[in-house]
Amino acid sequence: MMQTRSILLVLLVASLMSCASSRSGRGVDPELREQLDELAAGTIAHDPAGVVEWAEKNRRHVRDPEVRAELDLVRARALDAMDRPLAARAGLAAAWGHVSPEADGVGGAIQIEWADQEYRSGERQKALQRLDDLLDDPGLYRTHQRAALARLVVIAEALGDGDSAEHWRDEIGPGSGRLITKARVALMPAGPPPKAPKSQRGPIPDDPREILDDIQPRNRWRAAQMRSNRDPMTSIGAITVHHSAMATPSAGEVTTQLRRIQSLHRDDRGWADVGYHFLIDPQGKIWEGRPLRWQGAHAGSSASNRGNVGVCLLGDFEVTRVPRAQEASLNRLLDALCGRFGVATREVWPHQHYRATACPGRNLMPTVTEYRAGRAVAVTGTTTGTAQESQRTTED
Ligand SMILES: [Zn+2]
Repeated sequence: MMQTRSILLVLLVASLMSCASSRSGRGVDPELREQLDELAAGTIAHDPAGVVEWAEKNRRHVRDPEVRAELDLVRARALDAMDRPLAARAGLAAAWGHVSPEADGVGGAIQIEWADQEYRSGERQKALQRLDDLLDDPGLYRTHQRAALARLVVIAEALGDGDSAEHWRDEIGPGSGRLITKARVALMPAGPPPKAPKSQRGPIPDDPREILDDIQPRNRWRAAQMRSNRDPMTSIGAITVHHSAMATPSAGEVTTQLRRIQSLHRDDRGWADVGYHFLIDPQGKIWEGRPLRWQGAHAGSSASNRGNVGVCLLGDFEVTRVPRAQEASLNRLLDALCGRFGVATREVWPHQHYRATACPGRNLMPTVTEYRAGRAVAVTGTTTGTAQESQRTTED
């Protein structure tokens, strides 16, 4: 679940929190305006719990109904990012309740977000209807017409309706490419739950060294104890690759960073434990995270976490290249897991398959793509880290 720019967002949320108390409640505080605009640019998924808290705190001080609606919208997006779709929809309904019928900006933004959430959760007809309604009233939603059209392009493409896609694309006019890319990310479904393999070749071992004998058990990094709010791992059918989106740790800093990630997941987010099952450091050492007999928390929803092994490489691969030793260990671990549990290589996914995120970063994407394609070559001699273009690395 670690995403790029998470540190930036943590800083942002921290700065948001610090100035919440100075709000006057009269007019729109320019600082609040700026913070809302930044959040609207799409960086919510990095610390959704912090955003929810921030929105609720600020909401108490704001009187302008439209700003209240914006805060509700931000909160609803964060709830959706936390896999709480029902709470998110209720939040959107609440936000909508604050908007006057004449409101252009925030009203359209609420409807677009609503359609996105519906589409992502498979309610395609509802989403289409909502977008149609929005286009029916260009006077009301003037600033969101093009965003709605871009979504219709993506949906038409998904339905194989090239003619309609072209029609909607023409309607958008100049600059359609960027809008369509944004729409594509916004509508990316959470992904189907992983398919169960035909046969699990071996039971899930308690000792990770039965999978690879050089995996470092969790006591080696002095992991805190797991909490009881956990689900047993079901039949393993998929593996998802992540990056930590944190600064590359030196060899001496690795165990500290592992404890930090665990604390972020376990203490800050209230999960049972670190979300990933395995973490790989820049020197290529593989560390046990959450014991494999428990379902992870990394892909983005309880459906996508089911039977899904989470593997996280320490580093920010939007920014840095993947060290060769780290890449080699990833391939070795994937081989071992696929072999042991009968997972097809095409069921090895980058995190961005499940959610709109840059994770695992543009420099790690080629490794995952190649592995999926069954082209993972013997690790010696492979190079990686070319800043390859990736369709889905943008988050805004
Ligand atoms: Zn991730």
